[in-house]
Amino acid sequence: MLSERKWQAVTSSRREFLAGAGVGLLGLAALGIDRASALQEDRPVIESIQVTPLRYPTIGRFKFFEGPPGTPEGRAAVVVRIEDSDGNVGWGQSVPIPKWSYETLESVVTTIRVYLEPVLVGMDPFDLEGIHDAMNANIANGFTTGQPICKAGIDMALHDLICKAKGMSLAELWGRDPGGPVTLSWTLNPKELSETEDLIQQGWERGYRNFNVKVAPDPAYDLELCRILKENVPDGFLWADANGGYDPITAMEVIPKLADIGVDVLEQPVHPNRITAYQEIKKMSALPIAMDEGVISPADLLEFIRLDMLDGMAMKPARVGGLLPAARQLEILEDAELLFLGSGLTDPDISLAASLALYGAFDLQFPAALNGPQFLDGDVLAQPLLPNDDGTIDVPEGPGLGVEVDEEKLAEMAEE
Ligand SMILES: [Mg+2]
Repeated sequence: MLSERKWQAVTSSRREFLAGAGVGLLGLAALGIDRASALQEDRPVIESIQVTPLRYPTIGRFKFFEGPPGTPEGRAAVVVRIEDSDGNVGWGQSVPIPKWSYETLESVVTTIRVYLEPVLVGMDPFDLEGIHDAMNANIANGFTTGQPICKAGIDMALHDLICKAKGMSLAELWGRDPGGPVTLSWTLNPKELSETEDLIQQGWERGYRNFNVKVAPDPAYDLELCRILKENVPDGFLWADANGGYDPITAMEVIPKLADIGVDVLEQPVHPNRITAYQEIKKMSALPIAMDEGVISPADLLEFIRLDMLDGMAMKPARVGGLLPAARQLEILEDAELLFLGSGLTDPDISLAASLALYGAFDLQFPAALNGPQFLDGDVLAQPLLPNDDGTIDVPEGPGLGVEVDEEKLAEMAEE
């Protein structure tokens, strides 16, 4: 059990290490440490925050992108461009999926334009901790961080701006090696079981050897789906994600059967507010249980670990409010020796670059469920991020997120 005292001891020794390693004020500020002393009078201030809503065309079926009839198709995203008074520019991206959580393309745009930009303009762009505090003061928290997907776009743009201004990569900011390439897993969410083998084949032909399956609510369907997959790919990492779709009783019945078939890990078996169900499921020890939807802030993760609800977490910088909270959560997972799975929100290019930098630097050991390259078409980058033939993808090199936004492409894809 990771106590508050132990966690504080670990983080303070890490802070001392980072200071001694020459990470300096920037690294400390990025970790939210000694903000006041990190501030200097000649620091630039945030001058503008621009948002560009767009929708990436989708390839194939992904159930979370099937909106109500008449709603626009595609994967909604909002590109965030922040410029400071020294002319430093950073790019980020918010990636809402209303069928997965409550944020929308429209809510991200209005929240940034009406509520966040007026507060953040004039602030020190290097003060990541202060910016998160300001965002949380003006779009308040509920049980946990409010509108985290929106806030992640600002956080990523500031990380990009800070690192580009200093000519450093994100890995350098974190005091880590860049790592990579990252092995990807192929996502299966067939509407009919008869489609499964073709869908596996599509991934296989692109070099993917590891698979994610979307399961729940129908356990009979799920067991057959996993059985077909295991039969076709006996050696691949088999990661099932229920997206909170089982009720607790069904979850407890199906989990040992999924384990018998050879599923390696189960993510989010029941809704995140079913705390006692998570405790009981974990106690069964039938399968490693990772949480996704319920873990937003680092404090959520600490509490859920103390409540003995999980064996690990499916990390998503886009979901947890950005790279600052994500990096802290990965430190918590490391310290607690829990499972770190790399996942995503079917991230398009810019958000994908941020995830790859994080997973490479934190030495992800399992195939990542970053399925943007599988389900999305189009990009706003000068050099698109594409998987290699062997189902891996490189961690972008260079300062900041390591990608360059092509503003002409962005203007062509913009919704307004
Ligand atoms: Mg998930």
